[in-house]
Amino acid sequence: MPKKGILERLSEGVVFGDGGYLLELEKRGYVQAGPFTPEVSISRPQALAELHREFMLAGAEVLQTLTYYASEAKLQTVGLGGKMEEINRAAVRIAREVAAEKTDGDGVLVAGNISNTWEYDPDDPSSADRVRKLFDDQLALQMEEGIDFIIGETYSWLGEALIAAECGKKAGLPVMITMAPDNNPNSLEGYSQAECARRLEAAGVDIVGLNCLRDPEHTLPLMEEVRAAVSCYVACQPVGYHSHDDRPNFVSTPNFPLALDPLQLPRAPFAEYAVRARDMGINYIGSCCGAVAIHTREMARALGKLPVEERQWRAADGKVRSGYELQHTDRGAEILAGAGQAPER
Ligand SMILES: [Zn+2]
Repeated sequence: MPKKGILERLSEGVVFGDGGYLLELEKRGYVQAGPFTPEVSISRPQALAELHREFMLAGAEVLQTLTYYASEAKLQTVGLGGKMEEINRAAVRIAREVAAEKTDGDGVLVAGNISNTWEYDPDDPSSADRVRKLFDDQLALQMEEGIDFIIGETYSWLGEALIAAECGKKAGLPVMITMAPDNNPNSLEGYSQAECARRLEAAGVDIVGLNCLRDPEHTLPLMEEVRAAVSCYVACQPVGYHSHDDRPNFVSTPNFPLALDPLQLPRAPFAEYAVRARDMGINYIGSCCGAVAIHTREMARALGKLPVEERQWRAADGKVRSGYELQHTDRGAEILAGAGQAPER
């Protein structure tokens, strides 16, 4: 039976996305900080497969291909000119292979991915054609390898996002386009995110919204404006790094790119975020840079998306056999009291 498509799933309820790839793979030693290009799909395919798998096991219903920054122009800047085809094809194959491991329920969708190119320049009319070709080239390869829908993400220029929308629609699959809200949350042309969402919806985009740069707390108020501005589906994919009130874009802090670890958010705020997003009427709830499997798992739990029942693990004889039981159960409290220690409760 063919898998249910993204639009059918969205019509039935919240669709739950995955997390961030490049920064986590940098942390694991497979990606170079700074350029953050995605050649890991050909240099360390197993590392990428494993990260996809972690998100899927944590409950993600969509895996995004790691083709962020996989345009020919961006790859050329780091000496990877000519590798565009190989990187894009490998990334889709890897995501598909992992998605195929989930055979129960509705299965997991694979979203093709295009992103900001750094080639768009509103003062140079020829740049639109260059950007269009970069997107078309990536999407042709991703379509050949087999994707279920298209995500265009992390746009600062609405103009570039609209080109991504056009290329995605032309490819003939459902399209999601998300803008990246900087410290000044407007697009670089000066449009509010509500206005960007309206224009993307008018261009035929199926799912509009925001991703990257800000944490959930600094993204949700903007999502509220986006939700009110459009009647199509909306998506939210914030980062897993703490945003400062005066400088919410984590890339603009001195911690970026080599000292992000202390900014990484704990898991609990992501559970709260998922519930707030659902209650706000957000249809596609995921996350971006800095959000790893435990954030995804905590969100899935909060949304009732994790089908795995927690198994019984306490022994029938009632004996304490873990620090958790010693510190957090009545039997543990008895033992500690006998040893003259008050348990931490
Ligand atoms: Zn991101």
